[in-house]
Amino acid sequence: MTDVVVVGGGIAGCATAYFLAADGVGVTLLERGELNALASGSNAGSLHAQIPHDTFEQLGPDWARGFAPTLRLFLESIALWREAEGWLQTSLEVAVPGGLLVAADDRQLRSIEAKAEIERAAGLEVELLDRAGLRALAPYLSDRMVGGAYCPQEGKANPLLAASAFARAAEALGAKIVRGCRVKAISREGDGFRLRMNTGTLQARRLVNAAGADADAVAAMLGLSLDLTLQRYPIQVSVTEPAEPLLGHLLYYARAPLTMKQSAAGTVLIGGGWPARLDRAGRPSVDPESLAANLGFAMELVPRLGSLNVVRTWAAIVNGTEDWRPWLGEVPGVPGFFMCYVPWMGFTAGPAAGRLIADVVQDHAPSLPVDMSAFVPA
Ligand SMILES: Cc1cc2nc3c(=O)[nH]c(=O)nc-3n(C[C@H](O)[C@H](O)[C@H](O)COP(=O)(O)OP(=O)(O)OC[C@H]3O[C@@H](n4cnc5c(N)ncnc54)[C@H](O)[C@@H]3O)c2cc1C
Repeated sequence: MTDVVVVGGGIAGCATAYFLAADGVGVTLLERGELNALASGSNAGSLHAQIPHDTFEQLGPDWARGFAPTLRLFLESIALWREAEGWLQTSLEVAVPGGLLVAADDRQLRSIEAKAEIERAAGLEVELLDRAGLRALAPYLSDRMVGGAYCPQEGKANPLLAASAFARAAEALGAKIVRGCRVKAISREGDGFRLRMNTGTLQARRLVNAAGADADAVAAMLGLSLDLTLQRYPIQVSVTEPAEPLLGHLLYYARAPLTMKQSAAGTVLIGGGWPARLDRAGRPSVDPESLAANLGFAMELVPRLGSLNVVRTWAAIVNGTEDWRPWLGEVPGVPGFFMCYVPWMGFTAGPAAGRLIADVVQDHAPSLPVDMSAFVPA
């Protein structure tokens, strides 16, 4: 019997397998396709620590106060990202130049201030900027912008590198990583579980659900109905040709959903969760109207982007929840079955989610100062 089986080879599953293997626990990770082939390898690479502004505007301050414990999860995860290149002995192109949320008018600035108050109470460093302060920090922005907020704790990493690097390091520590292995059925067997896959069967003492946007389908194999709690949305990201250093920060725009950053290679990644489409086969595909709007807001913020060519736009499924809160921990009523699920910003939170799930799977107290009781759905 394997001690722990992790289902899913994205950042959540690979980080969990790494930390379990580093603790000397026998772990097998099952991935139905290739590692890092879905959201974890298709995202925009932002390391977020702040409350997303557009969601704050939609759901309001009471929601934001409820969401605030997640900021500690992000901060702890960014701290792990900064160390990870050392443990994994490879570059993940991690950089933490800070995030800058920019306002185009006074209403947006007041909304940023209200959000900053909640974020500071949750331990985030946020510096409010007037027009002159913004200009001094980020002269590359349009001079129409009136101010903003700077959070020095945010940054970026390369999603093409990260999950596979965790998996390689886990393997080197003794984890078994199995690709092309789809979990098709799960039943209880004694105190543990029996899994049926396309490649055979496996018994496990404990089971971690790190199946991202398909976590509800994996839970359904145990008779759990989570499809109303866990959600999936097609969204898209674009990348430009490489350019000279242009954007010094992870950028957000208070007028519209937008994230932007320049990668280590000089390309500019432009996203923000703009909706993509699903084709007839249910595969995500690019929505040209979203693309036009997304690029329009990007150029409004940084007019010099207009001289760069966009070389690719791609669509992928992001895992979500209605209230944006993660689900990290043992599922009530199903001992031994653990959810490792961080919606919308699961790339940022991947290392901390993996560390915390590795702790609780071993019945240890969380080794990060994070209130995990906030990460169980009401
Ligand atoms: C376009 C886009 C941009 C994004 N931008 C950002 C960003 O900038 N910053 C950020 O923090 N987050 C971002 N996100 C969100 C982030 O990418 C996800 O929240 C995160 O990658 C989820 O990781 P995961 O490991 O839980 O899931 P996934 O990466 O989806 O991995 C789950 C894995 O489980 C496997 N699996 C599922 N079912 C089974 C089964 N039955 N048997 C075996 N294997 C199975 C799948 O094949 C998959 O490989 C973005 C997402 C998208 C789509």
